[in-house]
Amino acid sequence: MAEKRICTKCLLQEIDEEAYRDKLLRVIDQMDRDVKAGDVLYEQRLTTCKSCDYLEAGTCRACGCYVELRAAAKKSKCPYKKW
Ligand code: SF4
Repeated sequence: MAEKRICTKCLLQEIDEEAYRDKLLRVIDQMDRDVKAGDVLYEQRLTTCKSCDYLEAGTCRACGCYVELRAAAKKSKCPYKKW
């Protein structure tokens, strides 16, 4: 079956959640080496997020970001300075 198209104007209720998640993970996987955090740093950040009360269904309630996407960018910071 063809993947449902995801546009920047889609509402959550219109999005194929699985395709959207796969797209986010692909974006992380394909980040340039010079902007991407190393594997160890990435996992340390996610471990911190997993024990944080602001984490909810992959998003950070403090800033609204997808934590995996934020953690994958080398220069990103936690809005509460937890990493
Ligand atoms: S980015 Fe910071 S505030 Fe947000 S879930 Fe992760 S540790 Fe918590």
